[in-house]
Amino acid sequence: MNNNPKNILVCVAWPYVNGSPHLGHIAGMSIPADIFARYHRLIGNKVAMVSGSDMHGTPVTLLANDLGVTPEEISLKYHKIWSKSLLDMNFLYDLYTNTHTENHMKIVQDIFKVLLEKNLLEIREQLMPYSITENIFLSDRLVEGECPCGNNDKARGDQCEVCGRTLDPADLKNIRSKRDGSIPEFRKTSHYFLKLSEMQNEIKEWIENKDGWRQNVKNQSLSFINEGLKDRAITRD
Ligand SMILES: [Zn+2]
Repeated sequence: MNNNPKNILVCVAWPYVNGSPHLGHIAGMSIPADIFARYHRLIGNKVAMVSGSDMHGTPVTLLANDLGVTPEEISLKYHKIWSKSLLDMNFLYDLYTNTHTENHMKIVQDIFKVLLEKNLLEIREQLMPYSITENIFLSDRLVEGECPCGNNDKARGDQCEVCGRTLDPADLKNIRSKRDGSIPEFRKTSHYFLKLSEMQNEIKEWIENKDGWRQNVKNQSLSFINEGLKDRAITRD
């Protein structure tokens, strides 16, 4: 008997539903979370393991465009396949939902409105890669090029897998579209930026006062903050 049960929230990564799950998804996201959750249930803690399908990612929209159907059709089709596969493989999600529910829409809009009211969002212009062949803005994951570290000529526009640094598409040399290899041009577009830099001290204090976090997790989070948090766009074309 566990006389002092803890509440354990296990947040598993939300997959883009532009295809069926494969072994990489299962090994990388579901198995480690499921083992962790089962362990805590076994020792009597109260566990909520939650996740869901990301119905609104760019990959869904692009696949829908390619097939000439709506993003809703694609995402609903693959959400069903994902839900059934996770169940068939015996993963114990307490909730597996998706981003197309009334509840999700309401919560996202509530968070957005609160941030806006608190003056933590700001519309700013930025230069983003634009595909001339497809007439679309390319999100950071849809471009690749050489990372400034010099050790990766296939770094994505958001992150370099080799040196681990966070990137912006503009940091990449020899940038190209991952969709068709064409060279994008940079065009101006406006987006809402979350003013992370203004929250830096508060977040730092919050992390420093956490007990129960592993020291290396704490150190890594703090080193991010000490490098200086950058404001980030939270909307997309
Ligand atoms: Zn790099």
